[in-house]
Amino acid sequence: MKKHTQYIHAGSHPDPSTGAIMTPIYQTSTYVQEAPGVNKGFEYARSQNPTRQALEEALALIEEGAYGLAFSSGVAATDAVIKLLKPGDEVIAGSDMYGGTYRLFSKVFAKFGIHFHYIDLSDLNSIENHINQQTKLIWVETPTNPLMNIADIEAIAAISKKHKLLLCVDNTFASPALQNPLTLGADIVMHSATKYLGGHSDVIQGALIVNDKALRDELYFIQKSCGAVPGPMDCFLVLRGIKTLGIRMDRHASNGEVIAKFLQQHPAIKKVYWPGFTDHPGHAIAKKQMKSFGGMISFELKNDSIEAARKLLSSTKLFSLAESLGGVESLINHPASMTHASIPREERIKNGLSDTLIRLSVGIEDPDDLIEDLKQAIQLAEKVK
Ligand SMILES: *Cc1c(COP(=O)(O)O)cnc(C)c1O
Repeated sequence: MKKHTQYIHAGSHPDPSTGAIMTPIYQTSTYVQEAPGVNKGFEYARSQNPTRQALEEALALIEEGAYGLAFSSGVAATDAVIKLLKPGDEVIAGSDMYGGTYRLFSKVFAKFGIHFHYIDLSDLNSIENHINQQTKLIWVETPTNPLMNIADIEAIAAISKKHKLLLCVDNTFASPALQNPLTLGADIVMHSATKYLGGHSDVIQGALIVNDKALRDELYFIQKSCGAVPGPMDCFLVLRGIKTLGIRMDRHASNGEVIAKFLQQHPAIKKVYWPGFTDHPGHAIAKKQMKSFGGMISFELKNDSIEAARKLLSSTKLFSLAESLGGVESLINHPASMTHASIPREERIKNGLSDTLIRLSVGIEDPDDLIEDLKQAIQLAEKVK
């Protein structure tokens, strides 16, 4: 089945009791049993829920995997992956990643004795050099949030397999429509479904997708034992979001290209971070492993005062100043004070995340209006001394 057909039909089966074409929101905590232990496969809603089951089936299909698991948030999905490990185990992760993942690793799991190495994942030798007997997992985010760095999933998967490690890829920025890490050799794909999968900025949710049955069973055990499950209403919203994922991503990507090129040629802009540019260090790899370059863009003004960046951030009218990304509406964000404030300033600067970096989540509005909006905001920022 072709992708655009799959997005509409994945996980959808007419409801057996009524024929309802849309998966009902099974708002129930428990299921009546005919006799003790005799049930229809549903016992208690932390363990099984039909709306969640439909979503998990859809997640697996669209991510080219065998099994999907839905969680109450993206960080809850990440939390479940790290709970596969035990004290003393080591993890190799990128030095640029979502601030909340860094916080979970360094402030929560580090105190349970799990050791994290944050390195430049574009350096394959460095990855090899950090592997030892305790290494169990490589955590990759690509493109990264917010610097749009690219890691070579296939090459890292080869290293991971050679050393019998697990490779988990946070595929939130690309979405399953642009990149499918399982087909490139990853063991686990993680999503913040809050972003492109939901697509409408109206739900918090996370997902894991795997191929291996034993790994799925282990993650399912963690999901039901730790209890970070999404409610049925949220599962319904993400199922509905997935139906338009294909056309939304096409538009996010085409709008992203237009905006990236507009910023690139603007005399007031110093640097644009977008993997679609041929001089982006990860361009060739991005071209190889992604279907298009997406709608996430970061940039810096030539005027490198915080005041100029602040002026721009508070002057856009269509780009709303907010955390998060991946919704149909455009957002503008200041990583240093918003999404990535949980990373110490020293670490941020070392990794290339400046105090004046501005991140855009380009929505699916008319690109002419988005450009006009940025134009007037940049003009106001330019006037700041
Ligand atoms: C938002 C985000 C997360 C965390 O997901 P939540 O749904 O907010 O818990 C993880 N990774 C990336 C890349 C994100 O953008």
